[in-house]
Parts: sequence; C-alpha cells; structure tokens
Amino acid sequence: MPLASYRMYIDGEWCHATSGATFDVRSPVTGERLATLPEAGREDVRRAVDAARAAQRTVARLSIKERAEIAYRVAEAIRPHLDAWALDLTLEQGKPIREARTEVAETIPNLLWSAEDLKRIETPTLEGYSKPETTYLLRREPLGVVGVITPWNYPWLIPAEFVVQALICGNAVVFKPASTTPISAVHFVEAIEKAGVPRGAMNLITGPGSTAGRELVENRSVDGLCFTGETSTGEEIAHRAGLKKIGLELGGAGPLIVLDDADLSKAARDIAFGCFNNAGQVCCANGRILVDERVHDRLATKVAEEARRWRLGDPREESTDLGPMNNEPTIEKVERHVADGVRQGATVVVGGHRAIDRPTRQYYPATLVDGVTTDMLLGNSETFGPVAPLLTFRTLDEAVEVANLPRYGLSMAVHTANLQRAFRLARDLKAGQVVVNDPVLYWDYNHPWGGFGRSGLGRVAGRWTIESFTEIKTMILNIGESPGPGSSENVP
Ligand code: NAD
Repeated sequence: MPLASYRMYIDGEWCHATSGATFDVRSPVTGERLATLPEAGREDVRRAVDAARAAQRTVARLSIKERAEIAYRVAEAIRPHLDAWALDLTLEQGKPIREARTEVAETIPNLLWSAEDLKRIETPTLEGYSKPETTYLLRREPLGVVGVITPWNYPWLIPAEFVVQALICGNAVVFKPASTTPISAVHFVEAIEKAGVPRGAMNLITGPGSTAGRELVENRSVDGLCFTGETSTGEEIAHRAGLKKIGLELGGAGPLIVLDDADLSKAARDIAFGCFNNAGQVCCANGRILVDERVHDRLATKVAEEARRWRLGDPREESTDLGPMNNEPTIEKVERHVADGVRQGATVVVGGHRAIDRPTRQYYPATLVDGVTTDMLLGNSETFGPVAPLLTFRTLDEAVEVANLPRYGLSMAVHTANLQRAFRLARDLKAGQVVVNDPVLYWDYNHPWGGFGRSGLGRVAGRWTIESFTEIKTMILNIGESPGPGSSENVP
C-alpha cells in the first residue's frame, strides 16, 4: 500500500509543520505504515489560534441561515466518500468495516440535526423582578475561538458532534485529533473546506497531546475548549486551561446491573454488544456486569455462549465482529487488568490472551472474566477493552454502592422486568444517563450526553451542544423613566 502524505489545515491552507517534523500512522490491522503527517509544534498551534481569532467575527456575523447551510454542505461533501473513508477508518483505528461504515454515515444526520437545533434555539425575554419598567432580552452569542481535542476510539463520531457545531454557533475552531487516527480528521476537514467556510475559521493541527494539545489548552486567545478523552488527561486540562469555558467528556466504567427478574437472554446479548463492540474501546461500554447472585450461573453461561460467537479477525471482512485494538498501551492495560483479576482469584472463562497468529500483536478476543470483585482493577476502573467482568450482588443497595464506587458516572444500565425497581435504581445511580433494558452503550442525537463525577463536566448532544458552544448575554432595556447615570439603583 503506498504511503500517503497528509498536511494540516491552518488559515485556509494545507501546510507542513514549521519545523518540518512529521509522524507516521501505522495500521493496527496490518502493521503497515499508512501515512505521514505534520507534527505540529507550539508555534503552529499559535498560528492556527491567531488565524481563528482573526476570522471569528466574520463567522459570528453570518446569518443563522448561512451557518446552518455550512452544516448541510459538509454533510453533502461527505456523502460521495462514505465507503473510501470508512475503509481508511478501519485501517487506522481497527474497527470492523460494518461499524466504520455506520460511524462515517452517522456523521450526516448528526450534522443535519445540529443545523436544525441551531435554527430552533430560543432564548427567553424576562420582565424585571424589582423594576417592572425593565425588560431583559437574552441572546446566545458565540464563545469566540474554540479548541476541540478528540480521542481515537470514534475518529468520526466525536469530531462530528463538536467541530462543525462549534463553527455554526459562530465560533472559529482549532481542531486537534488523536495521533493514532488523524487520517479521518483530515478527511473531515477536507469536507469542511469543500463546504466553504471563511478563511481561518476552521483549522486542523496534527501532533502530540503533550505539545500541540497542551498549547491549545494553555493559549490565552482560546475562549472555549471541548475535550474528549481520559479522565486523567481531563483533570490535567482542567488545571491548565485557566478561565476558559471547558466541556469535558471523560472516561466511564459503566455498570450493567442484572436483577433476578430480568430477561437473561436479552441481557446476555446486550452484555456482549456493550462489552465487545469497537473492541470495548468505548467510553460508555458495559465496563462491569453486576448480577444478582441468584441468577449468576444462568447469566454467566449465556454470556459465555455470546462471547464465543464474536469473531475476531481482519476488520475489512464483513464477517468480522472484533478487529484489533487501536494501540499498544491500550491492549497492555487490558492485559494488566485481566492479570490483576486472575492474581486476586478471578477466573477467565472465555478469551483472556492476545491472539498470536495475526498480522499485529493488537488482536484481543472477546473475554469473559468471572468472580471479579471491587478490589480488582476490572471491578473498580475503566478497562477499555473487549472484556466482560462479572461481579455479583445480594441486595439492590449493594448493587448501587458497587455501581457508584469508582465515581465514574457516564452511562449505567439496569435490566429488570419491574418498573418500580428500575426507577428506584435510576434515582440512586450517579450517572448522566441510566438505561433500562438496553446496553450501557447507548447514544442518540437528541438527549443530553455527559457525566457525573470523574466522567466529566457539562452536557452535549442535541440542543445541549449548541448551548455549550454559546454564552448567554442579557440586554437590559429600561423602558421607564431612567434613574439617571450613577444612581445607586443601577448597582447591585
Ligand atoms: P487521551 O486523554 O489519551 O487523549 C485524548 C486527546 O487528548 C488526544 O487527542 C490526545 O492527543 C490529547 N491529549 C493528551 N494529553 C494531552 C494534554 N496534556 N493536553 C492536551 N491534549 C492532550 O484519551 P484517548 O486514549 O485518546 O481516549 C480514550 C479515553 O477517552 C477513554 O478514557 C474514554 O472513556 C474517553 N472517551 C470519552 C468519551 C465521552 O463522551 N465521555 C467519548 C470517547 C472517549
């Protein structure tokens, strides 16, 4: 396969890094080098931020109609490339081609949905509380320059939730994707360029988080920052960002809780899907399976059957359910968590070792580990791999305590036939969403997305994305007799 060479996009030009430095993207599928890209230094990021700053007022002055039409045109620019860009996604990320096609295709309705949300955004008008002659007119205004930093697990879906949305809210954007999956980001920005945006309003920088990402976080000309990634990185960013408006979409260890009255066959299928889809590299994966001990044996048998059905293989083949993991540190973490569980008494029922007969060392099979407890890494943290760790509980209170223990609160799920028990758990679980009778892995365009505790700050998706990329301004209209300049009545 010929080595592709891509560039960054700064101030309306495709360019190299000022230093001339580059880095390679290697495929987890084949082990081959796929592409070389510029390795941005801090000076390149500053150039992108300056270009964005210069362009921002131009974007902000476009009408809502013009901004919504940018989103429509980006969607149209993606459409002809769906198959080719899905294959590039599979090759750089490792996910099965069926999942890749869905991910790239989902970008289109996602963008169209956001355009509609922008068109329908409303702000209230309030009457003065202590001054009836005063009216408060609320407006939503852009933040200014927005940095978007994204991870490698959904190289299309996540940027497609933020990059164009930030732009159509009237911001200028500097986008930094993860270094193992920048090819999808280049394609996305190609589509944005084709859609026609004001020069400098859209910038793409490629390079490591520790330099390029860090400059974006610390740069004082950046007004807003939207970060998706690990909890530890998010915490560091929160310290360094200063007084920017930040949104953090971080890790999860979402429990799927199976009560004794649940439909166990459905629960087992949902467990397999939420644990093994995208090789478990999902923030809202079923991170832990908590099962009532009275139905444990029956559920464990069914989950084992499901796990054995997930076919590990070349993700370019239609029949493959599970491709390689994206990168070595992530597969090493899975190994560390499984080894820790086994050392402390857990049992590997299915899988549990890297495959050794594949083109790279990053293939890991669907794995079921039973007898997991909250002392184990599998039971108290984010594993981020194709592993279903099975824990048991005796009472609903115990289930809630174990579920909330790691203080990750992105998505949690409950399987039960009893609506009262579902509501009771939904009330007590500390998570941005609680799913009843479906996998923890649940996402849609129009409901608020975001976490409690260590899973992040803020809410996005649907109109919440538009709200997060804008700030409220109040115009205070005095339509009565003015109290006159300097009057103490004007001062809070
Ligand atoms: P990561 O934190 O290592 O990296 C994410 C991005 O941040 C990358 O672009 C990286 O280059 C950049 N980065 C790294 N260090 C930085 C720094 N010091 N300053 C600025 N930028 C920096 O995360 P990852 O391994 O790419 O992604 C996996 C994690 O993302 C998992 O924990 C997963 O749960 C989480 N995630 C969360 C959501 C959500 O919606 N909550 C969605 C997807 C992934």
